[in-house]
Amino acid sequence: MRELYRRIPKVDTFINDEELLELLDSRPKFFLKKAVEIVLSDLRRKIAKGEISDFSYDELKESVKEKLKELIRPKLHKVINATGVVLHTNLGRAPISKRVAEHLVEVITGYSNLEYDLERGRRGLRYRNLEWILKELTGAEDVCIVNNNAGAVLLVLSALAKGKEVIVSRGELIEIGGSFRIPDVMEQSGALLREVGTTNKTHIWDYERAVNENTALLLKVHTSNYRILGFTESVPTKELVELGRKYGIPVYEDLGSGSFVDVRKLGLSYEPTVQDILKAGVDVVSFSGDKLLGGAQAGIILGKKEYVERIKKHPLNRALRIDKMTLAVLEATLTYYLDEALAFEEIPVWKFLSQKRDDVRKKAEKLVSELEKSEFRGKVEIVEDRVEVGGGALPLQTLPTYCVSVKLDSMSESELDKRLRGNYPPIVGRIKDGKFLIDMFTVFEEEIPTVVRALKGL
Ligand SMILES: *Cc1c(COP(=O)(O)O)cnc(C)c1O
Repeated sequence: MRELYRRIPKVDTFINDEELLELLDSRPKFFLKKAVEIVLSDLRRKIAKGEISDFSYDELKESVKEKLKELIRPKLHKVINATGVVLHTNLGRAPISKRVAEHLVEVITGYSNLEYDLERGRRGLRYRNLEWILKELTGAEDVCIVNNNAGAVLLVLSALAKGKEVIVSRGELIEIGGSFRIPDVMEQSGALLREVGTTNKTHIWDYERAVNENTALLLKVHTSNYRILGFTESVPTKELVELGRKYGIPVYEDLGSGSFVDVRKLGLSYEPTVQDILKAGVDVVSFSGDKLLGGAQAGIILGKKEYVERIKKHPLNRALRIDKMTLAVLEATLTYYLDEALAFEEIPVWKFLSQKRDDVRKKAEKLVSELEKSEFRGKVEIVEDRVEVGGGALPLQTLPTYCVSVKLDSMSESELDKRLRGNYPPIVGRIKDGKFLIDMFTVFEEEIPTVVRALKGL
């Protein structure tokens, strides 16, 4: 044992090893020292327990390499989404296209005209570069963009209804996860919640009866992540707008996901688009930038100039403002909506959602045939299933998909799931009816070889 201890190489031997330094690639030496420390202390522990009778420098170096690769990897990194859920909030919601990312890199790796008016040579407006496209796409009079839609709701309520009453249906007092609850946001904004109707039914006269001289806003919240089914009734946006006009009270709709595309084109049932809501006459509408829009995290507020001006002037707007990265991604993404066929091609969220059944099946077949070629020893099988869009969009609606079910004699499906999550890049699949499924709906074609390698590695 003493002999083994004596043979443990000095830390410096590793730190000066050319090959390890190359792997470190100009990152802080901290990572290499840490990797060596971990490997050597593991070695000492094994020697003490008598678990080891011999070792070589090269063996240890291999372990250091593995550890180093793990340590230098950024903690936020790519994941392969094999859950089938296109807008998976835990997996980063909307992926953006490589082309949009290229534009982003160019904007942020140098200086930009973020707040500079190049024509006049002086300070310009941060949102000017996005205004034109949102107006073009929706016909809105004015635009304000903040950090996310939760922030947008807080800002709109603070700017338009502080200290006054906001009428909202009991059927729309939503929670969307991450403790975003309409009543709590309302309280934060200083607006007073005036609930009307019941959980399942709210009528226009419920709203009308609640209107008084202290009413500042009629709020409609799109039930974007749940549905109340059965004996139900809610007031359509249009009727709420008429009521607002009658009493001179503005109407605000929190649309949640906010799509520019009519999803009936995908064989789904009707969900109002941003354009529809504006056409119905609301004064203000807000929605997320990274749900069905398929861009970056943001809260987009559109509406009548009179109200959006007030929203823009509120101090919270400055606190919730977005940065150049968000602006670059949003502008590049939004441009594609000028031609819907391009949006389906270039925006990953829409590319996935508009996939033909056959396209998904082909991806599943490709994975299976690649696995067979690689002599993967597990059992694979293509199974049909259905997926939800997720991310607080289109609740209860599903699209057809194909999954590859994987079975290994040597491990249970939960073990398999865990091992694939431990792969790099991790593969997050799902378990259904005792089967581990790789849902091809959200797997990019170019990710298939990585999945094959990971499965073979098992
Ligand atoms: C998702 C959602 C929000 C919050 O949007 P974020 O962009 O995630 O902050 C607010 N309201 C509704 C109805 C939503 O669906």
